[in-house]
Amino acid sequence: MSTLVLKFGGTSVATTKLIESAAKIVKSEYDKNNNIVVVVSAMSGTTNSLIDHVNSIDFNDDSEYDLVVSSGEQITAGLMSLALKKLNVPARSWLGWQIPIITRGQHRNAFIDKIVPDGIVNDFKEKKVAVVAGFQGISSEERITTIGRGGSDNTAVFLAAAVAAERCDIYTDVDGVYTSDPKMTDKVRRLDKISYEEMIEMASQGAKVLQTTSVESAMNHDVNVNVRSTFNPSDEGTQISNDVSNETRAVTGVAYSKDEAKITIIDVEDKPGVAAEIFKELASSSVNVDMIVQNNFIERKMTNITFTVPMTDLKKSLGVLEELKKRIVYSKVLDEQNLSKVSIIGSGMRNQPGIAAKMFDCLSNNNINIEVISTSEIKISVLIDRNKTESAVNALHSVFNLDKI
Ligand code: ADP
Ligand code: ASP
Ligand code: MG
Repeated sequence: MSTLVLKFGGTSVATTKLIESAAKIVKSEYDKNNNIVVVVSAMSGTTNSLIDHVNSIDFNDDSEYDLVVSSGEQITAGLMSLALKKLNVPARSWLGWQIPIITRGQHRNAFIDKIVPDGIVNDFKEKKVAVVAGFQGISSEERITTIGRGGSDNTAVFLAAAVAAERCDIYTDVDGVYTSDPKMTDKVRRLDKISYEEMIEMASQGAKVLQTTSVESAMNHDVNVNVRSTFNPSDEGTQISNDVSNETRAVTGVAYSKDEAKITIIDVEDKPGVAAEIFKELASSSVNVDMIVQNNFIERKMTNITFTVPMTDLKKSLGVLEELKKRIVYSKVLDEQNLSKVSIIGSGMRNQPGIAAKMFDCLSNNNINIEVISTSEIKISVLIDRNKTESAVNALHSVFNLDKI
């Protein structure tokens, strides 16, 4: 007998009718004599409207934010359990604190520390399906926490590790991981397999088909993850695992994020410790800094520091810099918002020279100006004008031979 974790995302459970269809997928796996854990997201749009409710009160308290924003998943867990019982599948709903899923770190973006799955495993003896509300946990202070947007993927992967599941199937509105976002270009090809490390880069550069932390958890705990379609469940989808593809391609995918803001601090005093001070303050305010560039003007003993943050962190970042003016010398701060980050990802890059040159050449041929560049061993990212996102993604997709044949 195997144990499976099946996770259904927001669009897959957007209506009670869709929840009943998803329950049929669960039943078909249950009927094959598997132990089943189901993880559900909030119904599509619910989390955003809960966030709007919190914002409309305009008082910052992250623990109450988490209490409100986690509630969408509670509704879906109850509805999914009802739908399963209606199909004669014994089921019980579980909230994060009831399991418990213990988290650490800051509210809104807590990390799963530990899951104690004893109650769920006990229920397996009675052939009961566990239906778990994704995205939520409980802190050591016994407050409800959430684990970052898209976090139900991580709930599923962590649970799969905790119950030693044979696999973790992430059911969503696409039938797998593609060479780029199918909503951005129709040239995309589906990948049958992708390695954890490439998927981590794809996700962290904007391919939100999986939450980045969930892929990191899968890699750390050796969980076999499949991305599959709720609307075509017989298809096996894309497998994410250690099994590195033997294709010789340099680039596996193109990702983008339209959620970028650029901040430039002009004429910062050029002396040791200043950059450390700036980024330490930003980090302690939980600002997620991404690309960083520094230009030194040697004769003037001044430097400009440019970095990018998610749009949602822009206001907070500007506040931190204003506060820092009391301690560090700079002349002014500029910010720019109409930007996108476009990235090419591929572990084949490691042993193929000239990939960066080919990328920059392609962008220049398409009249796309590069504002900031950042690289890792298997990724090159550029910051560009947001209006050019689609043409950049399409051009790079073609130039690196990713198009559908
Ligand atoms: P869910 O609600 O099921 O968690 P998400 O909206 O979080 O679903 O993720 C699925 C979406 O991810 C797809 O609809 C697709 O537009 C987007 N996406 C972005 N990049 C990719 C990619 N490379 N492959 C597949 N889907 C992608
Ligand atoms: N409902 C949460 C969100 O919209 C978590 C998730 O869907 O994974 O971010
Ligand atoms: Mg998602």
